[in-house]
Amino acid sequence: MLTHLKWLRAAPRPANMLCSQMVKRTCKNVSAFEKVLSVPKPKNAPAAGQLKIPHMISQREQKLNEGMVYEGFQCERVEYIPDFELTSYTLRHEGTGTEFWYLDRKDTNNVFSINFRTTPFDSTGLPHILEHLALCGSKKFPVRDPFFKMLNRSVATFMNAMTGPDYTLYPFSTMNEVDFRNLQRIYLDAVFRPNLDYLDFLQEGWRLEYSDLRNRESELVIKGVVYNEMKGAFSENSQVFGQNLLNNMLPNHTYGHVSGGNPLEIPKLTHTDLVEFHRKYYHPSNARIYCYGSFDVNKTLAFVNKKYLNQYECIDNSYSRIPGQPRWSEPRNVHISSRLDNMGAAFDRQNQIAIALLMCDMTDIQESFELNVLSEVLIRGPNSAFYKSLIEPNFSGGYNQSTGYSADCKDTAFVVGLQDLRVEDFKRVSELFDRTVCKTIENGFEQGHVESILHNLELSLKHQSPHFGNALLFNSTALWNHDGDVVSNLRVSEMIARLRANLTRNRHYLQEKMMRYFANNTHRLTLTMSPDELYEENFKQAEAEMLKQKINALDKQQSEEIYQNGLKLEASQKAVPNTDLLPCLTISDVKEPPKWPKISTTTIQEVPTQVCKVPTNEITYLKCLFNITGLSRDEVMLVPLFCNVINDMGTEEHDYREFDKLVLSKTAGIDFKLNFVENIYDAKSYRLGLMMTTHALDKNVPDMFALCQELLLNFKLDDIDRLKMLIENYISNISVGIASSGHLYAMLSSSALVTDAAKLKSMLSGVDHIDFMKTFVKQNGTAEICDKLKAIGRKVFNKTNMRAAINSSESYQPTAVQHYKSFLDSLPAQEKTKSSNELQLLEPSCQHYIMNIPVNYCAKAFFAVPYLHHDHPTLRVLAKLVSAKYLLPVVREQNGAYGAGAKISSDGIFSFYSYRDPHSIKTLAAFDNTYEWLQAENDKLDQQTLFEAKLGVLQQLDSPIAPGNIGIDYFLYEVSQEMFVKYRSRMLSVTVEELRSVIDKYFKEQPKHYGKCILGPANEKLEQETKQKWKIIA
Ligand SMILES: [Zn+2]
Repeated sequence: MLTHLKWLRAAPRPANMLCSQMVKRTCKNVSAFEKVLSVPKPKNAPAAGQLKIPHMISQREQKLNEGMVYEGFQCERVEYIPDFELTSYTLRHEGTGTEFWYLDRKDTNNVFSINFRTTPFDSTGLPHILEHLALCGSKKFPVRDPFFKMLNRSVATFMNAMTGPDYTLYPFSTMNEVDFRNLQRIYLDAVFRPNLDYLDFLQEGWRLEYSDLRNRESELVIKGVVYNEMKGAFSENSQVFGQNLLNNMLPNHTYGHVSGGNPLEIPKLTHTDLVEFHRKYYHPSNARIYCYGSFDVNKTLAFVNKKYLNQYECIDNSYSRIPGQPRWSEPRNVHISSRLDNMGAAFDRQNQIAIALLMCDMTDIQESFELNVLSEVLIRGPNSAFYKSLIEPNFSGGYNQSTGYSADCKDTAFVVGLQDLRVEDFKRVSELFDRTVCKTIENGFEQGHVESILHNLELSLKHQSPHFGNALLFNSTALWNHDGDVVSNLRVSEMIARLRANLTRNRHYLQEKMMRYFANNTHRLTLTMSPDELYEENFKQAEAEMLKQKINALDKQQSEEIYQNGLKLEASQKAVPNTDLLPCLTISDVKEPPKWPKISTTTIQEVPTQVCKVPTNEITYLKCLFNITGLSRDEVMLVPLFCNVINDMGTEEHDYREFDKLVLSKTAGIDFKLNFVENIYDAKSYRLGLMMTTHALDKNVPDMFALCQELLLNFKLDDIDRLKMLIENYISNISVGIASSGHLYAMLSSSALVTDAAKLKSMLSGVDHIDFMKTFVKQNGTAEICDKLKAIGRKVFNKTNMRAAINSSESYQPTAVQHYKSFLDSLPAQEKTKSSNELQLLEPSCQHYIMNIPVNYCAKAFFAVPYLHHDHPTLRVLAKLVSAKYLLPVVREQNGAYGAGAKISSDGIFSFYSYRDPHSIKTLAAFDNTYEWLQAENDKLDQQTLFEAKLGVLQQLDSPIAPGNIGIDYFLYEVSQEMFVKYRSRMLSVTVEELRSVIDKYFKEQPKHYGKCILGPANEKLEQETKQKWKIIA
């Protein structure tokens, strides 16, 4: 969707350790609702004495009254929103007109954000570079990059900044009030009084620099964090496609430009333009402030008013308003070219197409809501019209990433697109599209299907995510940015009820919408994209040409300035930052571990069963884990595919359409996933599992178990044509997104060179999996694959090798367990299979996956110690320290990569990684030099540095967990709450001496078992310069 076009301040960091799953690979159902509103709080307050989940408290009281003035803000509107059990307060600053939206909810994960409407009129990436620069130091905090420094002085559960097509926002969330106030001070000063230093502009934006800083004769090159970030972003074809879709669909105003920056345009930006843009757009009258949670709002209001807003005059902000896109009288077609993806489909199939239709003004919230539902009905799952007409004939690799309803701009859009198809089929798509629209208008919609979609939406309203405040912010930002009614937009149940009433009143309601928005809509764009073998070459030439022009235009004085600036920047990057100016938490702020409800384990019909009573808001969560370690290696290799198709083929009783409808009308879906767990006690063995997860409203729990039972016992894989289609879509989907998560793939691949278990993991979910699947499908017919998959299902689905976890409310729990027992009655018992495999360590090696992209993702991994080893918490602290104090300054700031870091996993593998990195050899050398750096910094390892690194670890350890997932670490890894608390306090007690001792123990010598990996362009000098043998995989 167009909404994916957001540029972030910080590169994605690898997921939390224990819960880290394998790289996410598939997007089977395109669902616009997935990102929508997930979460409310329990209806019933927990009984006295019962443990409360820290981020869910109850009770409600009205804190502010309409018409009253609080700290310079007039309270204009107060509404209670029952769907999410929150009270919404809309305030306006009397002096500047700044809107302040406060959502009072008994949730301790508090959120604060400042949003600006930023409308660029070129593609220099102005708002994006400004977003980076604002967080590079301000009047009160004149510290180099306080944003990154604060990452380690806080226990934020989220901290970032992002640039959308027409807005820039600065959000953070935290459960700690001291932290909340600290970050608020940093963020407000950053946006209203940033230093916007010229040297920071050179570092974050773009600069000309001598490739050898001290040699005026060396060649000049272009550098810059955003410059590289955007080169990396557009190395993913789906990003190029999405960006072009937006620019061509809404070409008339700001959306015709690339807000993140086109790498070839970025070097046109001047520092003066940037300062001027800040002055104009970062005015309080053009700002919106969002505040969510349970902390005292009066303190926030007072601070915002006294320290910032009351020093400004009100200005008219209409300059940043965005007009609606004038409607076209004729449809348009646009063709673009893309990079040839050497990991993607065959050359002649690497094309994409999308048909996009402009829908309504997004501030018409009921209309937009209904069009969103209509889009789901048209696209999602095997009962939808477009799935039947575009996907089932199987001439493509399935829906592309742009597919769905998009409500991120002033005008909303419906997009349906296909990936991996032949150019010859472009015309066919257009014809099929028109025919589908006509047919749907003629025949109407099946009520059961529409109802199943509405049920799924209602269920998603009840499902609680731990980051609800952030989800609300992100879902409201675009609408708010256009002065839409964000408060009414939260009344989802009311919108559903209105839609239901409309559907009852008028049988042709949706058909009439189809008529208006689909059949009679001339604002229609058909965007097609084909690979061009010269794409990369053309880009390089254009880049070289631009560089040449820049250089030719330089006079002697300017060349000298470039030379001097290079030296100045290097000096400032290497200077010791004065971080004492920044606030920091203290140990007493973070002493207490989070408290979670108790987990109990019992054995029911010999099945180990974990039960957790937790306020779930009338939902019961079920996880069944089948041990599959006993499968043959060949069978294991097919388990990811098995997981992807097993719930999509129907059962003996219901065909796949009926079954899908049933599942969607009773549950949130039944999902299957391969699970890989190393022994965290000794790292000598590992287990493979297949996990089934689902959840349903308590009233639907009997149906939920019945549907699971039906699927496990009577799955059906006989429809060869359908299976063939699902396999082909699966292969297309696993090849998408490698460049955007390249660091995860690189780490997976470097770990694969360390242990045989990690190697298997990479074969099952890393880059190697793509190749394996392609080859496998070439060598085996669909009928053969079908037989193999059936055999897997028969072997795996039994209660002998199963464990389960049920999370439900205290009152419903006995009933849930009753239904679970009858479910177990129906499952067959089989022989117990072997429960774990021995783990082997491998000889050191290096691997380079050649990718046709202009940036690298580098990783190095070595075997250290697993989670329960005494040294593990110390190494984890060290990983944070090395990331913040060494890798970010060197690999990001000095060498221009967008991200870099180090981590240790529960399986004991310690990894280094870089993200969107212009270098590879230099970065790997930096990884290797960690010990030398640590030695050089030895005397600087003080209490504060150590404590900051511990806070970094705490951010992961204490991050909030959704009620449905409480106990998952125990379920998957057998880490009990007691073990967790012990680990946490052990981590907090790590001393400088212990740190020094692990440095010597694990970093002094090159480790016995390590691997290095690069994902990136070919590099002939690799072996010569690294003096190592590399296995090249092209
Ligand atoms: Zn960025």
